[in-house]
Amino acid sequence: MRNLIVSLALFSGLAAAQGPRIFILTDLEGVGGVHDAEEQLLPGQRRFEESRRLLAGELNAAIEGAFAAGASEVVVWDGHDGSRTLSVDLIDRRAKLIQGKPTPANYYLSEKAYDGIIFVGQHAMAGAPNSILAHTQSFEVKRLTINGKPVGEIGQTAAIAGHFGIPVIMLTGDEAACQEIRELQPKAITVAVKRLAGRASALSLSHEEARRRIQAAAREAVSRVREFEPWKIPGPVELKFEYLPRLPANPEGRVVVYRGATVLEAFEAWLGKL
Ligand SMILES: [Zn+2]
Repeated sequence: MRNLIVSLALFSGLAAAQGPRIFILTDLEGVGGVHDAEEQLLPGQRRFEESRRLLAGELNAAIEGAFAAGASEVVVWDGHDGSRTLSVDLIDRRAKLIQGKPTPANYYLSEKAYDGIIFVGQHAMAGAPNSILAHTQSFEVKRLTINGKPVGEIGQTAAIAGHFGIPVIMLTGDEAACQEIRELQPKAITVAVKRLAGRASALSLSHEEARRRIQAAAREAVSRVREFEPWKIPGPVELKFEYLPRLPANPEGRVVVYRGATVLEAFEAWLGKL
């Protein structure tokens, strides 16, 4: 009997150690209820604390779902406003938090360091139709392409993760962001917490309903983590940034190109210059 208990204990220890390791990348522009760049995105703005609270609620729902599906580790990278939006006292006790600048070209990833990536609060790329607060890094970038394919922040992370053999398994954000990940990673599970409802207004789920759907989706995505495939881009790789024109100094808009033998090398060329 004792042997049985010992081996059961060993087995459960092993199972926990082997549970999926999940990396969650957060942003703020894709959180339900957030739609106003003047009031909701930066410290000091009237509704910023509300935005942080809503982000934490959605994030913790994803963390809850991931652990319910047997995750052994959840690491969160604070991706909004130079990685200084979250706080360790806002996140689920079981998760860990990465904050700080500058962002390394590997986005804190390495070869198969995690089994899957989850985006929370994500927005679509600059110029995406029917999107809310869409941009690519700054609101000055008109278009970014990887080997001619337009991408935003979603595509950048998916490309770097793919380089390291890690798939995107889930995304929450506005409807346009959900569509963007499905074009790159068709199997990714998405939760649209809001959609455009006018020129710059949003129709959002209640926070409680958003959390409920996010938790269920994270649970499903993590329980099926082995079914997803990483986005692999064959080299050589060219990253091309097209900036909006700044009249009258630069009526055409600036174009900057970074190259590398791999996706990672191209990102190193770019981020090394920032
Ligand atoms: Zn952001």
